[in-house]
Amino acid sequence: MPLRDALLDALLSALPPALRDALLDAWSVLFPVDCAGCDSADRSLCGQCRAALEPDVTVRSVGGPGHDGVRVHSGARYEGRVRRVILAFKEQGRTDAAAALSRPLAAAVAAALSVAPAAELLLVPASRAAYRRRGYDPVRLLASRAGLRVVRELHQVRGTGVQKALGVEQRAANRDGAFRARRNLSGRLFIVVDDVVTSGATILEVARAVRAAGGDVLGAATLAFTPRLLPIRDIAEGQEYGNDKEAHKTA
Ligand SMILES: [Zn+2]
Repeated sequence: MPLRDALLDALLSALPPALRDALLDAWSVLFPVDCAGCDSADRSLCGQCRAALEPDVTVRSVGGPGHDGVRVHSGARYEGRVRRVILAFKEQGRTDAAAALSRPLAAAVAAALSVAPAAELLLVPASRAAYRRRGYDPVRLLASRAGLRVVRELHQVRGTGVQKALGVEQRAANRDGAFRARRNLSGRLFIVVDDVVTSGATILEVARAVRAAGGDVLGAATLAFTPRLLPIRDIAEGQEYGNDKEAHKTA
């Protein structure tokens, strides 16, 4: 994210809404920007894409045999406009969408905390390669825009490659042992915070690493969830995901 954009974004969000809208309108005339979700000529996000990001929290459990399940709260469905905005945010540098995307994440976190108020918010570690490529950590940026206080107690001990072409079983195997706690986590309780949950393999691996260090995971909160979960469909629809680069790396 260019520093200029970050500063502008911060300045704009501090203004009264009417003044901010007027400035954004003037800005879009001088420097036209396409909507991050639908490419319509508009400033940053058009009204329809903004409306699609209205938080709508869904709860479901991830985890199969051999795992303790984790309840995941998600603020939006990863499809249609929501999916395109998230991809633009993660893969095309459209950090101007961060504020709008932070709202469904904040709603998911609030829902998760309502059943586990003592928990700390634990960020899923970003891989170094992804950080270098993007220049920012999408989940951390969203958490910051949502005003969430997060901790980073895990680090990645090995790369996990691209998850998108893998089915649920392979995703889980691919994630096993990927993370390790930086310190002893005895007595500490966490809600895992991530951007998109697909199979849940990443969240389960975080839970495993936390528990191995003596802590516990009471739930998870994500910006969005992928409604299509069956492994066979995951593979069958790999074609459709083919243009998304590493967007599905986050399992
Ligand atoms: Zn749009």
